[in-house]
Amino acid sequence: MPSSRTVHPDSQPAPDSTVVGKALAAVCSSVRDGGTEDVIEGVTPSFVASPGSTEEAAALLRTAAEHDLAVVPRGSGSRLDWGTPPARADLVVETLRMDKVIEHAAGDLVARVQAGTRMGELAGVLAAAGQEVILDVPGTSTAGGVVATALAGPRRLRYGSPRDLLIGITIVRADGTVARSGGKVVKNVAGYDLGKLYAGSWGTLGLITEVTFRLHPLPGARAYVTAVFADLAAACGGVAAAAASPLVASAVELGRSSPGGPLQVGVLLEGSADGVAARADLMAALIAGPGQAALSADAPDWWPGSPATDGGTLIQVSFWVSALESVLGTVDAAARSLEVTATVSGAAGAGVVYVTLPPDVAADVAGRFAGALRRTLSHERGGVVVLAAPAAVRATLGEYGGMTGPVPSVRLMRAVKDQFDPGGRMSPGRFPAEGA
Ligand SMILES: Cc1cc2nc3c(=O)[nH]c(=O)nc-3n(C[C@H](O)[C@H](O)[C@H](O)COP(=O)(O)OP(=O)(O)OC[C@H]3O[C@@H](n4cnc5c(N)ncnc54)[C@H](O)[C@@H]3O)c2cc1C
Repeated sequence: MPSSRTVHPDSQPAPDSTVVGKALAAVCSSVRDGGTEDVIEGVTPSFVASPGSTEEAAALLRTAAEHDLAVVPRGSGSRLDWGTPPARADLVVETLRMDKVIEHAAGDLVARVQAGTRMGELAGVLAAAGQEVILDVPGTSTAGGVVATALAGPRRLRYGSPRDLLIGITIVRADGTVARSGGKVVKNVAGYDLGKLYAGSWGTLGLITEVTFRLHPLPGARAYVTAVFADLAAACGGVAAAAASPLVASAVELGRSSPGGPLQVGVLLEGSADGVAARADLMAALIAGPGQAALSADAPDWWPGSPATDGGTLIQVSFWVSALESVLGTVDAAARSLEVTATVSGAAGAGVVYVTLPPDVAADVAGRFAGALRRTLSHERGGVVVLAAPAAVRATLGEYGGMTGPVPSVRLMRAVKDQFDPGGRMSPGRFPAEGA
């Protein structure tokens, strides 16, 4: 009889794998033993199951509850190493067999998909009708993973994040209960808005099995206005002016590859061809003065793609846009005093930037860097979150506020978590600690 390979820090006896495996296989047509390809930050799950429908997923989670299994949802698996690693993972529930676009109501500008649908697959279906889900995420990401991580790209400035573009959701709670919220219409006021809870839940509240997105028409034309600034205040002024301008930027991005180095500011304008061209000229003059900015129909090389770590430490800083100069000054000061290279990129116009430290930065230095940002920036809306870091860095973060730093609403979040997952079996350990 194979024994569970999951570490149980609370020293509970490991579930009997044979009995559990048979019980899972009785309710789900795709169940296998976990292998090396399933390891999540050092934790090997005992089983991986791929339900094909909400009903199958519900039966699976009911069975998992009967056997007290720790469950970790997985989409394409690209970001399982982000956030605090799960302490236990008896069962990974993978959504990739739930991959159908259930309905595209082009006239209503909504699309309902199963959670394992790849965003690229959905984009292809929508493009045929001249529509899109405006989240700027990679085509390989699953719809459920995008909602669960609540990540959004450059155009969050104008269109918001998954939380804003989600109008309906179906979830399976830890005990196997299915719940639905929202629906096909953009204004839907009946019942609790579960979508708001599950956006950013990182697999801690239950399994998302279906989502309904609000759509937008594909723009007729795009223009990128870019400028390079040597002066921090001038760059921040350009970002603030672009973000607040009635020229209606879809995105205002910033990139800096070294502390104190030049700052790239880029603005995306979308709309009809004539309108975009005229707005781009005005935007160029607004952010950098006449003749100082470049115009292009294609994104510049540095235009943010993934907030990637490449094995280093990735920190997300959220702030009021008016505090951008202070945020960048704080990053520079911490980088200089600790002698590290910190790159900065992100949706500065929407108040979110990503700071990356390379993998060769000593663990205690990376920890002190995060601590320095938190000490100085905690009053600027408090958002300094370590999204991903090598294990050695994570081990030093305890004295600097852990991965999340102080979470003012953590008690309320814990109360919600206890309602949805009273046994604490959904991605245990990922949830911010009380007092964090
Ligand atoms: C601008 C931008 C660019 C990006 N570029 C890249 C890139 O180039 N490459 C890349 O890999 N990523 C990139 N990302 C991140 C990408 O959006 C995430 O990887 C994606 O959202 C996660 O999808 P996934 O299917 O891989 O989820 P997973 O990595 O499988 O899961 C992520 C988290 O969500 C939970 N989860 C997943 N599915 C469910 C579900 N159905 N129910 C409940 N919880 C669930 C998991 O437990 C885990 O905690 C980018 C993001 C942005 C905003």
